[in-house]
Amino acid sequence: LTDRARELLDGLNPQQRAAVMHTGGPLLIVAGAGSGKTSVLTRRIAYLLAQRDVSPGEVLAITFTNKAAAEMRERVIELVGPRANRMWVSTFHSTCVRILRAQAALIESRNSNFSIYDADDSKRLLAMIVRDLDLDPKKFSPRGSGIHISNLKNELISPESATATAAEADDDTATTLADIYTRYQARLRAANAFDFDDLIGETVALLQNHPEVAEYYRRRFRHVLVDEYQDTNHAQYVLVRELVGTGEGAVSPSELCVVGDADQSIYAFRGATIRNIEEFERDFPDTETVLLEQNYRSTQTILSAANAVIARNPNRREKKLWTDAGEGELIAGYVADNEHDEASFIAREIDSLCDSGEFTYSDVAVFYRTNTGSRSLEDIFIRLGIAYKVVGGVRFYERKEVRDIVAYLRVVANPDDTVSLRRIVNTPKRAIGDRAQACVAVYSENAGVSFYQALIDAAAGNVPLLNSRAVKQISGFVDLIEGLRNDFLAVFGESDTPDADTTTIDAGSESADIGELVEAIAHRSGYRDELEGSSDPQDGARLDNVNELISVAREFSADAAALDPADRPDPEEGLPEPGSLAAFLERVSLVADADQVPDSAAGMVTMMTLHTAKGLEFPVVFVTGWEDGQFPHMRALGDPAELSEERRLAYVGITRARKRLYVTRSMVRSAWGQPVSNPESRFLQEIPQHLIDWRRTEPRRRERSFGSSGGFFGSDSFRSGGNGDGGGERSSARGRSSYSASPTRGRNNQVSVAVGDRVNHAKYGMGKVVAKEGSGATERVTFDFGSSGRITLMSLGGLPVDKL
Ligand code: ATP
Ligand code: MG
Repeated sequence: LTDRARELLDGLNPQQRAAVMHTGGPLLIVAGAGSGKTSVLTRRIAYLLAQRDVSPGEVLAITFTNKAAAEMRERVIELVGPRANRMWVSTFHSTCVRILRAQAALIESRNSNFSIYDADDSKRLLAMIVRDLDLDPKKFSPRGSGIHISNLKNELISPESATATAAEADDDTATTLADIYTRYQARLRAANAFDFDDLIGETVALLQNHPEVAEYYRRRFRHVLVDEYQDTNHAQYVLVRELVGTGEGAVSPSELCVVGDADQSIYAFRGATIRNIEEFERDFPDTETVLLEQNYRSTQTILSAANAVIARNPNRREKKLWTDAGEGELIAGYVADNEHDEASFIAREIDSLCDSGEFTYSDVAVFYRTNTGSRSLEDIFIRLGIAYKVVGGVRFYERKEVRDIVAYLRVVANPDDTVSLRRIVNTPKRAIGDRAQACVAVYSENAGVSFYQALIDAAAGNVPLLNSRAVKQISGFVDLIEGLRNDFLAVFGESDTPDADTTTIDAGSESADIGELVEAIAHRSGYRDELEGSSDPQDGARLDNVNELISVAREFSADAAALDPADRPDPEEGLPEPGSLAAFLERVSLVADADQVPDSAAGMVTMMTLHTAKGLEFPVVFVTGWEDGQFPHMRALGDPAELSEERRLAYVGITRARKRLYVTRSMVRSAWGQPVSNPESRFLQEIPQHLIDWRRTEPRRRERSFGSSGGFFGSDSFRSGGNGDGGGERSSARGRSSYSASPTRGRNNQVSVAVGDRVNHAKYGMGKVVAKEGSGATERVTFDFGSSGRITLMSLGGLPVDKL
């Protein structure tokens, strides 16, 4: 062993060491939470590079999130230096996007400028199909059909075989669904687009239909490593198999190493199957299996609780998991009156943990079962000035205005992208109404041309039934898009036809800045003017988001410009040119919830759903809402398989904690605006009671009866409901007038606020003043209303804002 290798093995236990050093056949590492699976994978990569003369280009590592990928890459760079930059460390989806971009020429009617459709885009496309087929949207809802198609794709079932199966079974519903599926695929092809599931499925098809391509990647990736293998679905399993190669053929199989824990499989609803990890040894002959048994993350108390809960799941492989971290503190338990009481207990605890100096905000995470769980917590955190970040929920890139601008970007890159095109053809409103769009759509169908080509034809007056005003408006829109393409595409060094060798562009000659393109879109499309001219305070927040997107894009371009030329990827590899439009769109399309987890340096409490918490760890963890109907989720109560899945979620939640664990439940919780009382979670009862220090087991006598006093914890004074549309507003609150006692409220309801003040707004709830400009009638105040977003109000006069 070299000194370097010895260093890399330092501190590992014998099993971990064996896993890092293993050579040859497939390697399966199965182990409980916190036993160092991810760490071993990372070390193994470093060891391959440092000790086994593997070059970084020969490594493909697959993680569950982009953030996990970035961390793994950084960690390996720390261990072996910057050359590790050239490894492929990414999610399944990003990996496949790269392969598809590089090989797009081999795929029928796609080119490398393809768009990536998310669930919302798919839904729009399906809505068009359901409308075209004149189907009952109740029976064949876009959402329901989307889930059905997704399930088929996860099983690698093609439209043809779905059609055949349905015909064989003589099943009308299945036949219709198969028809929808067939048309959906045809539309995706016509739009030069892939949906998320296609990214995997089409890559599998590519590798299977083109043995020379499969061989190229097998020669290339001599090492394939997969984290969180228990959450792979069938399509992902086949992809791994194809990438590694199973023995026959010219190339010997690549070395495969997967790590996982069947007890942490929590994505069955996305088609993940424990089968993949349970039958790995059968799928990949000559597998060596390594078990890790020492947990390095948690105290014995936390581990005992987790083990006791997961032990109740039937048909699982028993695992021994131990720690030498000592017993540690007892788990703290709390029974709250309602969710606001629960939130306020959590806030008080966080404050006292941080006041003691032992922990900081960034050491703390709060988990809940569903996204709505953050609301009461946010209210109180803002009120008490506890810095926090909600991971997931309505994401920045899901906000309407951001999606609109991104749709422009996609059309600039790929004018065949019909879903994006139809989204923006009349956004902002430019009098290209439904009727005009229908004429264009019919023409495009009949003439067999794309919607964009049909618009061009319409502008030339060749589409029947359009009036002259519509023609004029359409022509203006086509000019807008063509103008953007002419002015910007060349600068980014991108062209429509990837194989055209006539490109005369020198990508380096001009500063290609996506920020400028976004700016031009906002300006030339009239989007900015429309928002600026609006008196709706929501539009102020939308404008902020558009500006934020411009900054994101600028930063993206700046990062790319700063890239060391040596680190620039080989264009052959399917990686889009750094700073290119394709690269930007790829990044925007593939962000996942967990990618937003703040760095621990950020000084914020992190809040997220239990699902998002997978793979992470925090010194202090609060798991909230231990109520039957909440957690386990209502849906799971009568279904043993779902109940097992929920129990695994409990196991994941508990095992995120390193030192302190809190479990809380609430006697009453409002759901859809109604107070509902749920019994204690069965999972909570499964934790040995001697491990829990109950801070409160019985609810207080409720002096302030629920919802009537208008006091802080009265339900009426709380935000409830919410449209989740991401436009900034997510809730409404009646009863805020009970706050009119504010001493700062002067005549005409005028409130004077200063930067830093905490406020309570009738519409947006709790917030903080972050900026202030002008005075009197022209005063503009910007508030931060937590996950409701940042909102700028033109004048406070008459608006129901209370300073707290
Ligand atoms: P999960 O199942 O939650 O994904 P995991 O098995 O991937 O967990 P890691 O996240 O790799 O576990 O490791 C858990 C913690 O233990 C990390 O803080 C890691 O740094 C630490 N750790 C792992 N191995 C060792 C070791 N040999 N010595 C000291 N600490 C270790
Ligand atoms: Mg892990």
